[in-house]
Amino acid sequence: MANSQPTQKPNDLPKIVVLRWGHRPQRDVRLTTHVALTARALCASGFILSDVEDPKIEETIMKVTKNWGGTFSFEMGTSWKKAVRDWKAKDGIVTHLTAYGENIQTSDVLSRIKKLNKDVLVIVGSQKVPGEFYSSDVSDFNVSIGNQPHSECAALAIFLDRFFEGKELAETFDKAKMRIVPSMREKKVKSEWSWANNP
Ligand code: SAM
Repeated sequence: MANSQPTQKPNDLPKIVVLRWGHRPQRDVRLTTHVALTARALCASGFILSDVEDPKIEETIMKVTKNWGGTFSFEMGTSWKKAVRDWKAKDGIVTHLTAYGENIQTSDVLSRIKKLNKDVLVIVGSQKVPGEFYSSDVSDFNVSIGNQPHSECAALAIFLDRFFEGKELAETFDKAKMRIVPSMREKKVKSEWSWANNP
């Protein structure tokens, strides 16, 4: 029997924008790119590379979005303080992912976040983050994805998957030039032309 996919879309839920703090252009290009790709693929609405600029990352993300579709904003160089201030001024909430936070599995932190039904700025670090990130002036919630230190990419993926309840994995991105057709053994890709003429 065919696998029944959920039909409700994650865009019925509040929006998530990911803020990456602490990017080091000499060391972190690949990992920061992966954090941004993960954010996009798992239906976050945008990405802020705070405090530094790295045009290579912007170029990669814009190119992926152009080819594979969807709407995804990319901003860089904004100070994290301004990004947080602006987000809160628009009545959004801030969630900091940290191994030291409230455990997403063993606490009710996710249901408290979702109950607010507000857009969420998710902060992920790289190197040790400023102590202020833990305070209520910055973060409304400190959330841990298990209480072992691991990776910003893994933490973000699990947070997004739990927030969107898995529905983001069934999403079809609009305005795509290419789409992958899931297959047991082949690499199948359809072009924009083929589904416009042969839906
Ligand atoms: N040495 C750093 C520290 O003490 O803050 C560890 C940074 S870790 C390599 C990079 C980022 O991954 C963290 O800032 C956090 O956002 C995320 N992260 C790592 N483990 C996590 C976990 N268990 N739960 C949530 N986020 C985590």
